[in-house]
Amino acid sequence: MTTLVAVGAQWGDEGKGKLVDWLAPQAQLVVRFHGGNNAGHTLVVDGEQTVLHVVPAGVLNPGTVNLIGPGVVVDPAGLLAELDALKERGVLRDPSRIRLSGRAHVILPWHTALDKAREKAAREFAIGTTGRGIGPAYEDKVTRRGIRVADLLDPKELRTALDRLAKQKNFELVEHYGGDPIDVDALYEQALEWGRRLQVYVDHTAHTLENAMRDDRNVLFEGAQGTFLDIDHGTYPYVTSSNCVAGAVCAGAGIGPTRIDRVLGITKAYTTRVGGGPFPTEDEGEFGEKLREAGAEFGATTGRPRRCGSLDIVMLREAATVNGFTALAINKLDVLSGLGDLRVATAYRVDGKLTQDFPMTLGETERAEPIYETLAGWTEDISGCRRYEDLPGAAQDYVERVEALVGVPVEIISIGPGRDETIARIDPFRPA
Ligand code: GDP
Repeated sequence: MTTLVAVGAQWGDEGKGKLVDWLAPQAQLVVRFHGGNNAGHTLVVDGEQTVLHVVPAGVLNPGTVNLIGPGVVVDPAGLLAELDALKERGVLRDPSRIRLSGRAHVILPWHTALDKAREKAAREFAIGTTGRGIGPAYEDKVTRRGIRVADLLDPKELRTALDRLAKQKNFELVEHYGGDPIDVDALYEQALEWGRRLQVYVDHTAHTLENAMRDDRNVLFEGAQGTFLDIDHGTYPYVTSSNCVAGAVCAGAGIGPTRIDRVLGITKAYTTRVGGGPFPTEDEGEFGEKLREAGAEFGATTGRPRRCGSLDIVMLREAATVNGFTALAINKLDVLSGLGDLRVATAYRVDGKLTQDFPMTLGETERAEPIYETLAGWTEDISGCRRYEDLPGAAQDYVERVEALVGVPVEIISIGPGRDETIARIDPFRPA
């Protein structure tokens, strides 16, 4: 049995969904442990595209059970719509393949309304959230006012909790932002209906996880967003509202740190960012535009164009530190084909001082000027390569230079969005 945590090493959109789908046949359990439907994973299997937001990316593999842990915040309508779409396609026939923690908090219409109203009011200070209510739902969790999935199954408990929340939420929405109040009676009926439909999936997920490990099953933990969007380790305040680092698996799924075997950091072969916040290697010129076009860098959840730039080793080293990466996966290496010589940032100059460390503060990160090393590019189309040796020499050199600079072995290379467009240098689930 091997437990493998896969997390994003950058600002999200690294292609985690594709890799989780590719790894899933070897895992009996695939587990989401944080975030909500602000994540958007795009999977391409046999040419057919699936976009998932909160359902774990193992779902396309008939042999996996997909678990949504207590650290996730769940939009019931969004989850039900995703499940309906999967059922309609015949992908999800057995409801026991989705296990939803009764302890996961619920995103309510107040949360989405407040998310949007606050972003609008913040104007130039807007974070660039997806407007899905994730942050406000986590807020209510932390202030101990939140409603959990299991509450949807208990009419009395639900009514009391909604009434309590309504006073405070409607006050903020109406008095502070000039919005419309949410009718608590209608919401109550709606929430009961969500409960009725979700009941079949509700589970004490920590026990399911424990049982799988006892039965010697491989478990894959699927991160959402990325290290630099982590609420503690990211470019605060331009971050998401949960912990995205590998350590968050323990609380968010319900597993002890002693049970984690490996941590796979997923990075693109370059860097992208959606929304506001500092981005030291951002290229607003021709090279950035080429990356956006070649990499189809538009958000899966919002369709927003992603900001693009060269690979940033300073970030990857920081990510390796805070996550304890045992390996790296480099995705979208194919996008770099034909783009000429490539640069990777190996250090920053901040306020005249050279540093190899990612800065501690937002201001320093904004002022960081990357120091680049230039590597030779390649012109060949590499999407047909299936073995590492098939890659052109310059592409291999690029991978090996990244490996040396970050100090973590690159075990997986992705060279296209399709499931089979993947090169594994070693089995990620080999016994620990
Ligand atoms: P995630 O949230 O980390 O799963 O990433 P997204 O799904 O938001 O974005 C990754 C995008 O890149 C998706 O459209 C994938 O289909 C695509 N993709 C993943 N891996 C590769 C790859 O190796 N090459 C190319 N060209 N596209 C990829």
